[in-house]
Amino acid sequence: MTFYDTILPYDWEQTRAMIAAKTPADVERALSTDRLTMDDFAALVSPAAEGYLSEMATRSYAITRRRFGNAIQLYLPLYLSNICQNQCVYCGFNCTNKIHRTILTPEQIHAEAQAIKQYPFQHILLVTGEAPHSSSLEYLAEAMRIMQQYFQQISLEVQPLDTDQYLYLKDFGLHAVYVYQETYNRLRYPRYHLRGRKTDYRYRLETPDRLCEAGVHKVGLGNLIGLEDWRTEAYFTALHLRYLENRYWRTKYSIAFPRLRPYEGEDGFNPDHPATERNLTQLICAYRLLSEDVELSLSTRESASYRDRILPFGITVISAGSKTTPGGYTAPSHELEQWEINDGRSAAQVEAAVRAKGFDPVWKDWSLFMQQEMIGSDAATSHL
Ligand code: SF4
Repeated sequence: MTFYDTILPYDWEQTRAMIAAKTPADVERALSTDRLTMDDFAALVSPAAEGYLSEMATRSYAITRRRFGNAIQLYLPLYLSNICQNQCVYCGFNCTNKIHRTILTPEQIHAEAQAIKQYPFQHILLVTGEAPHSSSLEYLAEAMRIMQQYFQQISLEVQPLDTDQYLYLKDFGLHAVYVYQETYNRLRYPRYHLRGRKTDYRYRLETPDRLCEAGVHKVGLGNLIGLEDWRTEAYFTALHLRYLENRYWRTKYSIAFPRLRPYEGEDGFNPDHPATERNLTQLICAYRLLSEDVELSLSTRESASYRDRILPFGITVISAGSKTTPGGYTAPSHELEQWEINDGRSAAQVEAAVRAKGFDPVWKDWSLFMQQEMIGSDAATSHL
């Protein structure tokens, strides 16, 4: 029994119609409760909720500050490789796109880490295309072993793995894994994933189950906004979150909101269902009202001005100074980019913007920070 069994009975079009039919009364009911049902969440992502954005943002702000205080975590992605065996029609790394392919050597990984360490980042996200023959389990373990010399927390955004492989990587400090379903629409999923292991909708969908069974600390969920109706995608992402929170209550969860961005060599993929910044704000607030514990993460796909404006209203984690090219921190290049950065500010500029908003930038994941603080305070008070 996995999330696949949970989602299977749902019909995409019926769910979409159910969300579209929500009324202002449904939204007001959702806003008056402390424990949202999935029906309430549907109301909050519906068109009817667009007139309640201010109330949603006010509640989202209050819940976030109560649970997370003024802390905003900063992290950085480090692209190890742009080699990929898959053909996803929306991605610059897809195997038919004629770009130079590369995978970092151990020496290059050290050099990237040293370049990044001009800032006090402690949380690094290692990213690869999906190519198990090159970015193999052993390669990932070696990269993590190197990263442990520089960072306290190492997360991955790589090809989905089996449970025993995640267990193996825990020995190299695996902290979190982000695996986005891209679209929960099972019938339309093949339209975007033409070749490679990623064509297997079910294997990808069940990855968070495997991660939780392996005891990985944190699991990241999300869909690629623009492929399918964003309201329906949000409903199924939330359903996935709720399923996981109920079943694997020890695990932490994270949700991201990647909107489709242009990429080098693009041959005309245009999203059929784009979402505006206002839509994105509605989504962020709805997720926060659904779960006060979930991490909400916003990347540099979004503009600097939007990231600054939305910061108080539910977001708890942002990337800063990101490059989406392998070797991008030592030799910046647009040619190898997975997608085009929208917020091109340096980490120092993002840090200053966070402070200017009255928030406290935190360069590592607060949960591990808390554990270490506890250990430290135990030691400090042991003489009492
Ligand atoms: S989205 Fe991931 S799997 Fe798909 S082509 Fe890009 S790098 Fe490869």
